[in-house]
Amino acid sequence: MRGKLFVLSGPSGVGKGTVRAALLNDYTDILYSVSATTRKKREGEVDGKDYFFVSLENFKGMLNNDELIEWAEYCGNYYGTPRTYVEEKLNQGYDVILEIEIQGAEQIKKKFPDGVFVFLAPPSLNELRSRIQKRGTEDACIICERLKTAEIEMDEMYNYDYVIVNDVINNAVEKLKAIIIAERCKIENYK
Ligand code: 5GP
Repeated sequence: MRGKLFVLSGPSGVGKGTVRAALLNDYTDILYSVSATTRKKREGEVDGKDYFFVSLENFKGMLNNDELIEWAEYCGNYYGTPRTYVEEKLNQGYDVILEIEIQGAEQIKKKFPDGVFVFLAPPSLNELRSRIQKRGTEDACIICERLKTAEIEMDEMYNYDYVIVNDVINNAVEKLKAIIIAERCKIENYK
């Protein structure tokens, strides 16, 4: 049986990375697709684990060779999901999870209509601002840009299958696990 594609999306700073990491800690049978990005590596990030950090030239090469199943320019950097890994693993029967922003999720929905789309929402935009500020990885101008983007992104929530309000991380993780369990139990999987 082909694996299921789970897409975790939502505004930057909402905690997608934290929720995803906690999920993968407990669920070793769901595979995370590492994205390619032209963004500079943050302190502590590891190439090949957090992202494949590539130059703009390399990213454009990947695009031209149709090596990405989706991509987006987000706040001045490019991000994309490598095709081979996702297709291979789904074909081998593994469930795969993507953690991507909203424009990318839209592209995936067109290409993988059977995917499961989960929107991680902040309790409020004010809360999102303080989370991005606390993270301390962006300067003021970028925070402002990311918040403007987040407002637009919130309207997209209604195109998703599920929404999880990330008020308490552990609860959000439990909800994501519940979604995965329910999706794996669907009768369609047994037809
Ligand atoms: P960050 O720079 O904070 O790591 O990521 C910025 C945004 O890009 C986040 O919303 C993150 O989820 C998203 N992102 C990460 N990888 C990808 C990807 O492969 N495709 C798309 N479309 N977005 C991504």
